[in-house]
Amino acid sequence: MTVNTPSPEIVKTGYPTAATLAELQANLADIHMRIAAACERAGRATDTVRLLPVSKTVDEARIRLAYAAGCRELGENKVQEAYGKWEAMSDLQDLKWAVIGHLQTNKAKLVARFAHEFQALDSLRVAEILDRRLQDEGRALDVFVQVNTSGEASKFGLAPDQALDFARALPAFSSLRVRGLMTLALFSSDERHVRPCFQRLRDLRDRLQQDAPSGERFQELSMGMSGDFEWAIEEGATIVRVGQAIFGARALPDSHYWPEGKRGAG
Ligand SMILES: *Cc1c(COP(=O)(O)O)cnc(C)c1O
Repeated sequence: MTVNTPSPEIVKTGYPTAATLAELQANLADIHMRIAAACERAGRATDTVRLLPVSKTVDEARIRLAYAAGCRELGENKVQEAYGKWEAMSDLQDLKWAVIGHLQTNKAKLVARFAHEFQALDSLRVAEILDRRLQDEGRALDVFVQVNTSGEASKFGLAPDQALDFARALPAFSSLRVRGLMTLALFSSDERHVRPCFQRLRDLRDRLQQDAPSGERFQELSMGMSGDFEWAIEEGATIVRVGQAIFGARALPDSHYWPEGKRGAG
């Protein structure tokens, strides 16, 4: 019997790199099965959860394989990287790009040009500039308000107690179609620390919805990543953002991709 020694990369994160169409198809099928199982445990219909594959750091060749495997939307946390990929793959006309990382106002113009969704709205200043740029482009954009549910200073997002006032201000921006809330949970393998973050986001969504008229636009809960998406679904996620479990481990630690020391930075 041969013993396969896993590469150091696999030992580190547990996610082997998917390099072929067959490997990507297998990973996607596995994630869809786990989503379905989590839905069943939660007594929810499978089609109430949308998988957003996250392709940050993944190169064009493998993104084209993901497209061949059926992906029609991809999440990226850096605007510049996403914009470059959108340009390079403009031949894939039905491929949509979601920006899921923090946005600096000087990049709002790019987002307004190509993104179909922005999941990290957390300031009125960004809302205002994005709205103006969208009007220049004659476009509208689905947006999610990012909430910091873990209380870590290292995370972007509004404090939960700021969300109500923030939500009430958003109808002024006519090009922003508010869809819901987004969060990154505490980064931990202990569900007793992770689940409360998801519960906080759900409770907040429920409170916003009662605060009609602006509240009724808050339907979606974007929460859950490779390491915690099943817990997120059990707590009510309607969108899960999964990168490494589909594409494989990223070569560098996340602190490299979020240089300001914040998770989800762009
Ligand atoms: C990278 C990223 C994800 C996906 O994380 P994985 O560990 O690759 O599943 C989800 N959300 C945001 C905001 C990200 O930046």
